[in-house]
Amino acid sequence: MKPALRRIGVLTSGGDAPGMNAAIRAITRSALARGVAVTGIRRGYAGLISADFVDMNSRSVSNTIQRGGTILMSSRCPEMYERSGRRRAADNLRQAGVDGLVTIGGNGSIRGALALWKEEKVRVVHVPSTVDNDLPGTDVTIGFDTAVNTAIGAIDKLRDTAASHGRVFLVEVMGRENGHIAVDAALASGAEAVFVPEAKAEMKLLMKRVQAWWQEGKHSLIIVVAEGDEGGGLAAIANALKALPGIELRTCTLGHIQRGGSPTAHDRVLASTYGAAAVDALLAGKAGVMVSLSAGRLRTVPLTVGLKKPRPSDRHRFALVNRLA
Ligand code: ADP
Repeated sequence: MKPALRRIGVLTSGGDAPGMNAAIRAITRSALARGVAVTGIRRGYAGLISADFVDMNSRSVSNTIQRGGTILMSSRCPEMYERSGRRRAADNLRQAGVDGLVTIGGNGSIRGALALWKEEKVRVVHVPSTVDNDLPGTDVTIGFDTAVNTAIGAIDKLRDTAASHGRVFLVEVMGRENGHIAVDAALASGAEAVFVPEAKAEMKLLMKRVQAWWQEGKHSLIIVVAEGDEGGGLAAIANALKALPGIELRTCTLGHIQRGGSPTAHDRVLASTYGAAAVDALLAGKAGVMVSLSAGRLRTVPLTVGLKKPRPSDRHRFALVNRLA
């Protein structure tokens, strides 16, 4: 027999990502439409432990689908690493009559969700959301498309000034462990080169190519570097390029602007789809799972799948950046 589902909780945790609000909206409205009440939990796991709860109605999520960030707010919560913190979180949910929980976030948030499910039997379904797009078990996470679009918007502007002055621009984008944003942003903005954590930094090759371009009269160059690039990042590449005679070099770190802003259509549609699927999963009696898209198919996978080795960026696309430069 399926467990009763009278009220669900929803929280956003860890790094925020554009599209989280669209997910909260879809979860809230699809639950209400099925006769299930919704409790919003503020500031992620911190609000779960301090019982910072708010009753959600359909109006609570009006006019939010287009907004970046998260209306429920997010946080990093050290108490969740303690057994006592997780016990308090589960007790608070039971006291508030919450029979199912939807968590929205990245890798760390999945660890918290899995602990609540395993230890406390909290019926949790996770919605994958991180601008990094590196969660295993799904092809795509909420926020990635917007982050790439923000990066290419900035790179297009840098290209204008690079072209006007004949300059080389090194642009650092987010991606400490993986180069998903770097590779797609580089390919979509027509960058001349890209550096990512997953591939050995080919500095000698870059220097040769830059010199050749410079001699041919191609002076406007964009090089995209992921934060966690293998070769030591932006500073190391800048130092190497500065040694080349005649090169005019500028650097730009895009930083947190990539995490904010109005979500793209893709992220709004994805978040709406994932949010509704999470409620469907809880109603179907599933728990300890994450919703995912795999080869275009919407499904659920065990939370443990989302904790496997991070998914690396696409090698073919990486190679294509160089081929098309
Ligand atoms: P993200 O979800 O974006 O990867 P974090 O890694 O910062 O973000 O994790 C968000 C929160 O999830 C942490 O602040 C903590 O409260 C919780 N969390 C992370 N790892 C664990 C863990 N091993 N056990 C319990 N809770 C965890």
